Amino acid sequence: MSRKIVAGNWKMNLDVLQARALYNELNGKDTDQDVRVILCPPAVYLSEFSINIKEIHLAAQNVSDQSNGAYTGEISAEMLNKMGVDYCLVGHSERRLYNGETNDLLYNKIKQLIKNNVHPIYCCGESLEERESGKERIVIQQQLKEGLFSLSADDLLKCVIAYEPIWAIGTGKTATSGQAQEMHAFIRQLVEDNYNTRIAQTISILYGGSCKPDNVNELFSKPDVDGGLIGGASLDANSFKAIIDSF
Ligand code: PEP
Repeated sequence: MSRKIVAGNWKMNLDVLQARALYNELNGKDTDQDVRVILCPPAVYLSEFSINIKEIHLAAQNVSDQSNGAYTGEISAEMLNKMGVDYCLVGHSERRLYNGETNDLLYNKIKQLIKNNVHPIYCCGESLEERESGKERIVIQQQLKEGLFSLSADDLLKCVIAYEPIWAIGTGKTATSGQAQEMHAFIRQLVEDNYNTRIAQTISILYGGSCKPDNVNELFSKPDVDGGLIGGASLDANSFKAIIDSF
């Protein structure tokens, strides 16, 4: 059975005092053992947060596709692992858009992470234009095929998939639970077609895009939605806690 996960992507928000305060509120939270809570703060805070970590897990928002060397400004998967970071976002639509990250590059990042025992959270999602022209399945299929599906079965099981329609990210316009379920079922079917039923049923598929305490109940009730990748609502302790508790 797939693991339930709620991950908070803080993006490039919060100064050190704000970040510390939010982290301290969430780190002490008593959470149902069945739900894995992951925080993705900006990389500069990972070191400090890893020291007193309790029930939650840390994720980086980015990693280099290289193992080490003359790559100014980059952070390696090995550094993340040795810092106690368990997960890393890969292929968030903002990085695909603003940093020109391609599926091939993302696959190399995933390989680095797996080699260093960090779980990739691979994001996929279509634009509004692609959805309006009925191409969402083609887009997702290509992102998964090129970015993920060359992994061995064992390595794929170390990954989490996040379906994040770009038109729903930070827009306040969430996918309906029906739209989310339809795409999650499609993704699970692709995993089954490329691997097998056991892997398809074990891999966690998260929904991301304007999740809030008042819409997650409905989204999380869908059989193929294993949790959420939360942006804006993860910056407020009460909202994020309410989303975690909605499982
Ligand atoms: C995200 O950035 O992954 C995201 C889902 O953002 P938001 O919840 O703000 O739409």
